Amino acid sequence: MPFTPLHWGPALLIGFMVFPLLNIPILVVSSVIVDIEPLVMNLQHGFFHSYLGATIAGLMVAVATMPFKNSIEWASTHIVGLPQRVSFRNVALTSLFAVWLHVFLDSFLYPEMKPFLPFDGNPFLGLVSSPVIYEISFVSFLPALALYLLRIYMSLRKARSNWCEQQDGIFRLSSGVSKNVKYHSLYPLLSRMPRNLADERRWLSLPLVSLPPEESLESGSTSGGGAPSSRTGCSG
Ligand SMILES: [Zn+2]
Repeated sequence: MPFTPLHWGPALLIGFMVFPLLNIPILVVSSVIVDIEPLVMNLQHGFFHSYLGATIAGLMVAVATMPFKNSIEWASTHIVGLPQRVSFRNVALTSLFAVWLHVFLDSFLYPEMKPFLPFDGNPFLGLVSSPVIYEISFVSFLPALALYLLRIYMSLRKARSNWCEQQDGIFRLSSGVSKNVKYHSLYPLLSRMPRNLADERRWLSLPLVSLPPEESLESGSTSGGGAPSSRTGCSG
């Protein structure tokens, strides 16, 4: 495409549709990487604008980016806002998908392209007119943006839910076997309950969570009682 960033529209739309199957930062890089070719080859779409060449380019991107695994995960969390784990399989799948989509979209546009190298010819040329390809690519940005915002919302909800679960675990631990039990607002009630072995086992089987410093439990106990949800805003 003469305006390379147009490739981001369809790529990101599909990326957010199947999230977290494809890695978003890798998708952004890989969906435009093969356009280095026309940039350095006087606007000619050659080997890297074939499925064979694009496959090699996609695998090169996957191998080259793996040493930066931590940086990609950081970018996913702090720039994209959608935390994603990075694995070679995930990165390779993403970069191959991105370069193949790039070749597919370009193959409608450029007479010099031979997408099925080493075979000659381009059966897609002119099947869909250039303005339609540009419009599809441009219009894709809108649903991609809507899906992106939806994914952000879902991610924030999940993070909040995890945090609330952890708070609930702290509450149960602190009211069960923790040494901080005396700070809990329900301590007067708990201390009068008969000690029950079954209950004790239930507290101990909870997932390991880090307890807050004693001061925070103490301040929690002075600010009023009730269930953990009402103290942490986790209800509903
Ligand atoms: Zn291209």
